[in-house]
Amino acid sequence: MKATPEDQNLLIELQLIDSQITQAQVKLAGLPEIEQIAAIHTRLENTAVELTVVETELADVAIELRRSEMDVEQVDDRMKKDEGRLNSGTGTPKDLEQLQHELVTLAKRKSDLEDSELEILMKHDGVKARVDELLNDQVGLKKLELELNIRFENAKAEIDMNLAQLSASRAALAPRIDSALVTLYDKVRNSAFGVGAALLIGNKCDGCHLSINAIEIERIKGLEADEVIRCEECRRILVRI
Ligand SMILES: [Zn+2]
Repeated sequence: MKATPEDQNLLIELQLIDSQITQAQVKLAGLPEIEQIAAIHTRLENTAVELTVVETELADVAIELRRSEMDVEQVDDRMKKDEGRLNSGTGTPKDLEQLQHELVTLAKRKSDLEDSELEILMKHDGVKARVDELLNDQVGLKKLELELNIRFENAKAEIDMNLAQLSASRAALAPRIDSALVTLYDKVRNSAFGVGAALLIGNKCDGCHLSINAIEIERIKGLEADEVIRCEECRRILVRI
């Protein structure tokens, strides 16, 4: 294939733009915020799952606590009634003695129930503290998520702007180059990690950085300037300086 040295030089310019486009795309895909936001999402999901469990537990313990309070109230009411009867002095001495016995039993029962109530109350406070902690975590994580989203959007906007400029430069430059040369370049680029054209610097290909043997260098030197040459190692288009 033949192409003017000017076209070949423009091809190197096109390669520079394409390499910058690739770099910008890699930078965009690798923005640290992407991974950080994903990690926050995972933590938010885990928090939501635990919160559902703990909130259900809290509702259950609240019912348990209310029941326990009612049990104490019931015994308390009964004791008040018995005390009333005892204080009124009505009834046979045997009745009164029975009442006194019952009051002792009730006092013991009330004390047991209060112990149990205290235990449930402590359990309730523990679960409630965990709910509050999770709600607090949720607020913190959402705030962090918001900050990261803003940082990501800003970084993305900057890269997108750069990409738009590069695309415009490419669109302006490509039509100035011989179309057959651009077609070959695109084909090579697709199979050579985004680099389709490289400079021949001394006896080295700037694409694969390998030295070209002396015989091939001699052959290249004998070729016309408009002859399109390819690296024997990487097959990229080699542009002589
Ligand atoms: Zn090469």
